[in-house]
Amino acid sequence: MKKTILVVEDELSIATLLKYNLEQAGYNVLIAHDGRDGLNTIVASNPDLVLLDLMLPSLDGMEICKEVRSLRINVPIIMLTARDDEFDKVLGLELGADDYVGKPFESKEVIARIKAILRRTETEQKESNILTYDNLTINTEKYELQLDGKKIDLSPKEMDLIT
Ligand code: CA
Repeated sequence: MKKTILVVEDELSIATLLKYNLEQAGYNVLIAHDGRDGLNTIVASNPDLVLLDLMLPSLDGMEICKEVRSLRINVPIIMLTARDDEFDKVLGLELGADDYVGKPFESKEVIARIKAILRRTETEQKESNILTYDNLTINTEKYELQLDGKKIDLSPKEMDLIT
């Protein structure tokens, strides 16, 4: 299934270029051109990852990051920062950004970062679907139980009973 990337960027040329390159790389792309619109789109559309420009009209990237995390939305965020923005990298990461890319950037570089982060979050999600007790392993996503390494398939109802 295609992943959806939200690009929050007020500079039209950058937003357009990213959209083109991300679509070429096989992603669905949503664009928001200011901070308020960006935050609303994160809440409404639940994207798989957000590319978030730091300097934006109405709400800046830091404020969006803080707001998203206080709403307990776990979407990965990559900050886009111009060299002359006074971006405090430590603060950005503390506010809940997962990574940052300095402008000007190559789309290839951004896509590589996106892939790395999506791979990481996928692994984390898979691991959180697996419960282990002694010689028993339960995969709550696949409705599968393993006892001493032997697979036993369960119905969703049976899974509800034991988890
Ligand atoms: Ca900007």
